[in-house]
Amino acid sequence: MSDLILEARQVGMRFGRFQALNDVSVSFRAGELCAIIGPNGAGKSTFFNILSGSLAPSAGQVLFRGQDVTGLAPHAYARMGIAKSFQITNVFKQLSAHENVRVAAQMRERRFDFLSPRSALREADEAAAALLQRVGLGGHGRRPAGDLAHGQQRALEVAMALAAQPQLLLMDEPTAGMSPEETTVMMDLIQRLAAERTVILVEHKMKLVMGICSRLVVLHHGELLAEGTPEDIRANTEVRRVYLGQ
Ligand code: ADP
Ligand code: MG
Repeated sequence: MSDLILEARQVGMRFGRFQALNDVSVSFRAGELCAIIGPNGAGKSTFFNILSGSLAPSAGQVLFRGQDVTGLAPHAYARMGIAKSFQITNVFKQLSAHENVRVAAQMRERRFDFLSPRSALREADEAAAALLQRVGLGGHGRRPAGDLAHGQQRALEVAMALAAQPQLLLMDEPTAGMSPEETTVMMDLIQRLAAERTVILVEHKMKLVMGICSRLVVLHHGELLAEGTPEDIRANTEVRRVYLGQ
């Protein structure tokens, strides 16, 4: 099945005696915008960390374009074209917004060592400027990242993730801690990004993703509770019960 970009096969994760994920099998198609939803503690971040290569599962496999990538190092995932942004903000606060993205872009340029250091730096600078523009931070390049508003720092992280030119972008609660205005801006950005690559989101707030995703995956107590179109999920009585029972 060539249109599958990422697959989890019977994935399980155990922390000591606690089974955080159990027998989760989900496939993601190339080009789709999909969200993994579920109540707090459902196992979403654990599953995200496994899908993005930050955590090796204790059972099952992860396949990227049909290849078994289970347990490969995070940099191997990055090299394959998988990028991620975490639930927690992760920028270098003392560096400027531009420098943050430039560092991320230089990581990629390092692969092109036929370029002179100077032209590599210029390419990274140009890439960083374009990426800041792309995420709506065009006028903020010189500001220390730590001085940016929370929503802007999250946008900056997205620019850093995009510097690797990923085919697949994984985002864990990209709107966590955001104001309603910041949330709208981020959801618009995600929709635009999804027009160019596969995006998998983890989101606690079901309403937010209903309108933009073609498919939803619902986790509950570490198990796959449901998956389907937003209409399927909205009509699913088990999902309603889980969300209402919170
Ligand atoms: P979600 O992102 O859906 O809120 P998580 O994946 O963060 O859920 O957590 C799922 C469950 O696994 C929670 O009960 C959490 O306490 C537990 N858990 C997550 N990471 C660890 C860990 N490193 N060690 C022990 N328990 C963990
Ligand atoms: Mg989480």
